[in-house]
Amino acid sequence: MANRHVAIDGPVASGKTVAARALAASLGHLYLDTGAMYRGAAYLALHFGVDLDNERAILALLEHHRIRLVPDESASAGYRVEIDGVDTGTRLFDPEVSSAVSTVAALPGVRNAMVAEQRAIAEEGPVVMAGRDIGTVVLPDARFKFYLTASVEERADRRAKEFAERGLDVSIDEVREQIEERDRLDRNRAVAPLRAAGDAVVIDSTALQAGDVLLRMRAIIDAAS
Ligand code: C5P
Repeated sequence: MANRHVAIDGPVASGKTVAARALAASLGHLYLDTGAMYRGAAYLALHFGVDLDNERAILALLEHHRIRLVPDESASAGYRVEIDGVDTGTRLFDPEVSSAVSTVAALPGVRNAMVAEQRAIAEEGPVVMAGRDIGTVVLPDARFKFYLTASVEERADRRAKEFAERGLDVSIDEVREQIEERDRLDRNRAVAPLRAAGDAVVIDSTALQAGDVLLRMRAIIDAAS
């Protein structure tokens, strides 16, 4: 039988994680936010003062420290990220980690390590995997592929609200600049750049509520099942 994996890709704050989490819950699949894995790598580099483009040193950190995503409905993201068994809380979503992550994620060796782990998780059972290269590289044979987009204004607005809820004071202009810079790096890197797979269904969520995005995805999945 064909796999039942769902790949969801898209730029920063396009609604992937909310949609992926809700879709996984509604289908009874595992939800995997691959961005958190790259954030874990960036966090380690920052924590140990390693240059963000020092691939060899970052790979050594990844070998010596275990980044683990543990499903946890009581956590706001629906999972917690443990590094060496210690919960990282919201630290992986701090602005410093967000600014560093795309540089670390552009390193081919780091991507190889992450992709191998992501594929191993998908071997275990059906998964809804969110990221940048899931439909193109990690799970090119995924049964369903979605690519979420939204206008940069809408995405900046959503991200600024999240920061405000966490009590972080970041202006909307700053948020927009960070989003545009991260998307630029993710779209232009040599290995596994952000792009929609040729067979992905593109959903523009600019004028949609999260629930509407879920309904559209479910309609497509249900029609094919
Ligand atoms: O999804 P999130 O914004 O948390 O992802 C953080 C960063 O991790 C992205 O900006 C990108 O640089 C990297 N990433 C990636 N490939 C993925 C998921 C995330 O390169 N599959």
